[in-house]
Amino acid sequence: MALEIYNSLTKQIEKFTPIEENKVKYYSCGPTVYDTAHIGNFRAYITVDILKRTLSFLGYNVDHVMNLTDVDDKTIKRSIVENTSLKDITEKYTSIFFEDLDSLNLIRANDYTKATDYIDQMIDMISTLLDKGFAYKTDDGSVYFDISSYKDYGQLTNVDMSQMLANAQNRIKSDEYEKEQVEDFALWKSYDKDDGDVFWDSPFGKGRPGWHIECSAMAKAKLGETIDIHSGGVDNKFPHHENEIAQSECANGVKFANYFLHNEHILVDNKKMSKSLGNFYRLEDVSSMVSDILAFKYLVLTTHYRKQLNFTKDSLLAADNTLTNLKKHIREIYTEEKGSAIASYMSSFKEALESDLNTSLALAKMWDMIKDTAHTSADRYATLMEMDKVLGLRLDHIKPENIEVSQDIIDLAESRLEAKKNKNYEQADVFRDKIKELGYEILDLPDDKYKIIKP
Ligand SMILES: [Zn+2]
Repeated sequence: MALEIYNSLTKQIEKFTPIEENKVKYYSCGPTVYDTAHIGNFRAYITVDILKRTLSFLGYNVDHVMNLTDVDDKTIKRSIVENTSLKDITEKYTSIFFEDLDSLNLIRANDYTKATDYIDQMIDMISTLLDKGFAYKTDDGSVYFDISSYKDYGQLTNVDMSQMLANAQNRIKSDEYEKEQVEDFALWKSYDKDDGDVFWDSPFGKGRPGWHIECSAMAKAKLGETIDIHSGGVDNKFPHHENEIAQSECANGVKFANYFLHNEHILVDNKKMSKSLGNFYRLEDVSSMVSDILAFKYLVLTTHYRKQLNFTKDSLLAADNTLTNLKKHIREIYTEEKGSAIASYMSSFKEALESDLNTSLALAKMWDMIKDTAHTSADRYATLMEMDKVLGLRLDHIKPENIEVSQDIIDLAESRLEAKKNKNYEQADVFRDKIKELGYEILDLPDDKYKIIKP
């Protein structure tokens, strides 16, 4: 089998074939650094991580670029509200973003491109669109993309063409809007006094770029005109990705991305997450509810990325318990002895991932493996370490703790062993229960050996 992924462009599952053999040019939309990211954003970044890790696991060399939107409507508004410079605001939230990424053990991109570092490339692309007749200038010095000039506009989200033509004379200057509002969108926004000191000079006049052109220009600058995979949350489909496709394909004259991947939303208690409903969670909120923040990552992996994930306190706590249980199993099978990964389990694990990143099935394979006592602990441990290269749950950090055990416990354990040797299993269980009451657990090893652990 080879990797198969659902392509939002063709709306079907396709075999993944990169442009260059073994190399993947991958662009994913990153954060707008005006606030702390919420758990819905992190679902997207976890999906990015799993895709990347899967590609690397399958032998591909991934060149991953993620943007940091450090100038747009939201960042400017926030800097005004907080009475701070745009740079200070965006740097603050960029560093929080990286801390959060690390806490979830998400592999960093090869490049994080800041939009403000690519203003020249954006101006170049807008100039090309003007030259080619896909864009026009308005009296106020803004530049708009003419959606009626691009016959494939709306291919990703099936925009209603009749509505589009009816709206074709209208223009929208804000970065975000609804599908029903499909209109000519801003490539360059002429200076407005609300922009404060945020502006650049350009051949079109003083102003700033629209949000969508940022990604088109940065993807081209770092990865070239045609990339293999572009991804983002489903909320990025319209208008953001639709507009990126239009700008890039019209400016470059070639296909923008061969595969588009979109992950679904997170719901909280079956409702859309929103600050006004009081069901809005950031990573730090989640962190205070669990023993290990990776329980959130585990929870995300239990649901296919194209299905909505209903986040509840109970589902989070269940994931936390499962992860704790997994760690307990790891401590049991942990050994310094070198084993080798079990081929049959590795291949079913790989097949699950190749099937449009079926992470819940991959986790099920992992559990089957870890409980399969037909294989040695050393081999199971080695298999688990291989699997965790994709899961990224930091399982290699789990080691049996060096615990200090008092003589009472050792005596109980020895008495239990004695009882077992005499086939007095009932008595052996009594000793085991006593040990448990004192907060320890006995793990039986081959040849009448045992290990005392603190679960
Ligand atoms: Zn983007």
